[in-house]
Amino acid sequence: MRQWNFKITQNKAPERCEICHQIDMFDRQTNVCYRCNSLPIQQLANPIFIISPSTVATAMATVLAAICFVVGIIDINALFSKRLNVLMYYPMSFYMRIMIINLINLMFSIALFYWCKDKHNDRLTYQVVVWGRIASVIGMIGSGAGLLIPLPGIFIRL
Ligand SMILES: [Zn+2]
Repeated sequence: MRQWNFKITQNKAPERCEICHQIDMFDRQTNVCYRCNSLPIQQLANPIFIISPSTVATAMATVLAAICFVVGIIDINALFSKRLNVLMYYPMSFYMRIMIINLINLMFSIALFYWCKDKHNDRLTYQVVVWGRIASVIGMIGSGAGLLIPLPGIFIRL
């Protein structure tokens, strides 16, 4: 391994601007070049990419959240008025329809929940992220209960 020895013999202040290499607008006292001073050097060297919210994505998430929320609230209401446990004795066509709606809404709510996570929510506005989080949790609780509690109805019909 070779070693290099350097010795600084002279130390002088810069005479010109390090960016534009000109002296005309460079102030040696303060080390400021008035031509380059306003350039966003920090941002150019460390660019931060800001993804702006998309109108389409925000509108889609708002509608999806509304569906998850409404179905979730209907399920929670049915749970507390004890209508979920009698659903399993309802006629087959009605029973299956409600179960399919709950299954779809549960999948919607889980998808919405992940969409509103910090990792994936770049295209959504802050308000929609908050609304989506509330609606997805309501949707998951409601549809989860709406799917699980009447589930023994399938065995009754076998
Ligand atoms: Zn300069």
